[in-house]
Amino acid sequence: MKIAIMTDLEGTAGVTSFHEETYPEGRHHILARQLAMAEVNAAVDGFLEAGCSDVLIIDGHGPGGLWFEHMHPEAKMLHGRPTAPRSVRDTVLQDYDVTVIIGQHAMSGVATSNLNHTQSSRSIYSLTLNDRPIGEIAQWTLYHGAVGMPLIYLTGEEAACTAAEDLVPGVATVAVKRGLSRESAVSVSKEKARSMIHAGAIRAVEQHRARPVAPLVWDGPFVLVKRYFHTHEADRYDGVANAERLDGQTVRITGEDIRQVLYA
Ligand SMILES: [Zn+2]
Repeated sequence: MKIAIMTDLEGTAGVTSFHEETYPEGRHHILARQLAMAEVNAAVDGFLEAGCSDVLIIDGHGPGGLWFEHMHPEAKMLHGRPTAPRSVRDTVLQDYDVTVIIGQHAMSGVATSNLNHTQSSRSIYSLTLNDRPIGEIAQWTLYHGAVGMPLIYLTGEEAACTAAEDLVPGVATVAVKRGLSRESAVSVSKEKARSMIHAGAIRAVEQHRARPVAPLVWDGPFVLVKRYFHTHEADRYDGVANAERLDGQTVRITGEDIRQVLYA
């Protein structure tokens, strides 16, 4: 089994603040990246112990959220900003069988989710797809579900785990912190987080072998409604063929191919 690991910074145990930790200018940003890298490495260890042959780590946090110097020696990392076009990244990802997400947070608007946001904490207010509120978990899982890759494991904040379980029957999850409010949480220790993530990775592979998790697929056509905090963000859809401005801050994007809609 070949595994592609999507990663994020905001669902890491011990990371609670946008301004101090997840924004690149934050005074504890490098420490946060090292905490995230160690959680990802714990998952890599578990996957290799469970017999996986190839593990690719994708640095998914906006400006980058991992610490390459500490990466697991047997893993590879897809990283760098600006990111490669999706069509180029897809040629790398097509070699992988399943995907997982490490360090995930819940979608924008979940009041008790620590560091809740969707894609950009500074620009996107909300996303809905075919009238269902979605966040980064659904975006990633639907995008890869459309080409037959299931999400078999997710770790991060408790509300993110619940969201994954609601979306994907059979997904294994590990919560390393419980959000209290947007920038407050109860975290387990870094040691505990790593041991839970390691054990969960082994469990996820074993469960998937015994009862394969289905790729997440929704029926089209697709209507994505994207609401921004500020009007200038919606301005860029002016003249875009499949996009319609609903009001100053809101655009509607339509299409038959979910992979062309989800991140439009
Ligand atoms: Zn995120």
